[in-house]
Amino acid sequence: MRQSKLFTKTRREAPADEVAKNAQLLVRAGFIHKEMAGVYDYLPLGLRTLNKIIGIIREEINAIGGEEVFLTTLQDPEIWKKSGRWDDVVVDVWFKTQLKNGSDLGLANTHEEALTALMTEHIASYKDLPRQVYQFQTKFRNETRAKSGIMRTREFIMKDLYSFSKDEKQHAELYEKAAQAYEKIFARVGIGEKTYRTFASGGSFSKYSHEFQTVCDTGEDTIYIDTDKRLAINKEVYDDPEVYATTGIDKAQLTEAKAIEVGNIFTLSTKYSDALGLTYKDAEGIALPVFMGSYGIGPGRVMGTIVELLSDDKGLVWPASVSPFTYHLVSLGHNGDDISKTADELYEDMFKEGIEVLYDDRELSAGQKFADSDLIGISKRIVVGREAVASDIFEVVDRATGSTVKTPRTELLS
Ligand code: ATP
Ligand code: MG
Repeated sequence: MRQSKLFTKTRREAPADEVAKNAQLLVRAGFIHKEMAGVYDYLPLGLRTLNKIIGIIREEINAIGGEEVFLTTLQDPEIWKKSGRWDDVVVDVWFKTQLKNGSDLGLANTHEEALTALMTEHIASYKDLPRQVYQFQTKFRNETRAKSGIMRTREFIMKDLYSFSKDEKQHAELYEKAAQAYEKIFARVGIGEKTYRTFASGGSFSKYSHEFQTVCDTGEDTIYIDTDKRLAINKEVYDDPEVYATTGIDKAQLTEAKAIEVGNIFTLSTKYSDALGLTYKDAEGIALPVFMGSYGIGPGRVMGTIVELLSDDKGLVWPASVSPFTYHLVSLGHNGDDISKTADELYEDMFKEGIEVLYDDRELSAGQKFADSDLIGISKRIVVGREAVASDIFEVVDRATGSTVKTPRTELLS
């Protein structure tokens, strides 16, 4: 893409009403636009990064057998009344609306009820189990706090996976597979080293659920880390002696840290299958409730976390896996001179090879272009200056480290 055609502009100053670093930088770099508190639009660069994160999650969830769906966000109160979660006292983040005829309708804050009800038409026998069904779909939540930029918004996409098993044993295998897929996902997007599988309270059956918490000073949560075991415990269960007995963690060894919950996995047991009548027949023909789990990741929160962790004083720093483009091609030429021609040619050749390039072909000073390039944070920058014209060798600068590698055209194209 030619940067002269990119409609978004960068800004020097952080918006006065943003406190979160992720929102300040993403707005300045033109990745997002704020509509109101806790409500953001994704612009071309931001959408490319968000979609890369989504793509990585999709690959890893497909790899463990997930089947992707797309359920409506409009929610029928009747099924939510069956699980007891239509009540605003039970679920305090509801956005609700009404049809023209006056009947109530909910905007989904999660999809356990809808998917469990749907699966009653498709699961009948133990031969239909296990199943793993997931989606990337909008959730609406009337969150009270909205100070964390894109990490806590009132409308956000969630990857929500639900597992359906015949019993606890079958469920335990899927649960562990999902946990391992999560570890791969967080490693691939560049936050693996700082992300801990964290014991949390919950699950209607199992004593613990797991959160995936990324250590970061600006996180809203507090966790306690066992660095040797690479495990953590959250605040809810810190004073529960059983968690230490179960995990072998020594409470005295734990270090406290601020963290961001990037994902979580939950054993639901038969809570929703009981409420919504999701049963299967075992080999003897006896009807039993399906044993369920649910597994969430917020791609927007992951994107915000990457910004919080990796950006520097010049701007965003994207790992290659989620960079909006692979290369930022910065031409130092002017008005069709030799440098511009060399840059044009390289851009056209890279484009033909299917390489993702943002090409800064604008009539601006080198200083302005480098400042923008640093702010946007594409993982690798190719600089086209006078030497490149003569030698056909280009400087490739790594955004994270600043290290430079002189690379011939042929190598860039291969
Ligand atoms: P939190 O305790 O931070 O509110 P949660 O327990 O409500 O999170 P879930 O309902 O389990 O989270 O959602 C699964 C995932 O969706 C979370 O791990 C997080 O990555 C993401 N998520 C949750 N709420 C938001 C939000 N308001 N904005 C963006 N992402 C969110
Ligand atoms: Mg919440």
